[in-house]
Order: sequence, then structure tokens, then C-alpha cells
Amino acid sequence: MRCPSCQALDSRVIESRANDDQYTVRRRRECIACQRRFTTYERVELVPLMVVKKDRTREEFDREKIRRGIARACEKRPISFMQIEELVDEIERELRADFEREVPSSEIGINVMQRLRIFDGVAYVRFASVYREFRDVETFAKEILQLLHQENPNEDQ
Ligand SMILES: [Zn+2]
Repeated sequence: MRCPSCQALDSRVIESRANDDQYTVRRRRECIACQRRFTTYERVELVPLMVVKKDRTREEFDREKIRRGIARACEKRPISFMQIEELVDEIERELRADFEREVPSSEIGINVMQRLRIFDGVAYVRFASVYREFRDVETFAKEILQLLHQENPNEDQ
């Protein structure tokens, strides 16, 4: 970081403060050569996460797309807008942590399903049916039965 007065390269940081958005840091610096003080801003670069689709084409990770899919599955369920937002936040955080640059679309679907399964049984079944496109009816039926069984564990005793 060059001093704006004397162009010297060495400066020391006097103060660091994270901005409200948590992605920018403001630093007060003092030039070692001329003691002039100046301010710098550092911004975290968000690397785009690419989604690899079944046909091997890629598109940029679209958080809004996931939010829409979940919102559709949660329609008329006792789930608030904020809960859906938090769910999408968690999913995005986890995907960015596990996959640095590229994530297969199948992994996103599995991640969403695993969370919805714990979150709301009905939303889970709805999402799974859309996601799996009813290609695997047997597994799907088994999953629904399992789910019903979990909700009413004493029913068939
Ligand atoms: Zn200087």
C-alpha cells in the first residue's frame, strides 16, 4: 500500500474496523517514511460459485433460485419468510464451505432435501417430488412411508 504523499511502501496499521456489512475493513495507516496518515478499505472478494448441471454445463450459483424452490415447497405451511431466508443462508454457507469453486447441482438438491426433511415433512415431500421428477417412484414411496411412520410412531402397534 503506497503512501499517497511520498509513495513509500511501508506503513503501519493504527486502527482496523470492520464495516457493518462485515465484508469491508477500514484501516487507518501511518507512513513509516513521512508519518502521514491515510485510510484504506479492504473488501472481501466473493468468488463466484459455479453450479455444474447434469449435462455438464455450468451456471453461476443462484441463491434466488433455491429460495424460490424452497418457498414453493413451503407454500401454506406454518413457515415464515425469515425461516426460509435462514434456511437458504445455511445452505449457501455450507455449499461455499464444502465446494470452493464448483458444485454439482445434485449436491444442492440433496443438501436442500436433507434440511427440509428435518424442517417440515410436507415441504420435504413436495420438494423431493419436484427434484426427483418422480423418476424413482419406489424410493419416493418408501421415503413417504418412512416419514409418515416417524410422525406417528405408535400408529401400527
Ligand atoms: Zn509517506
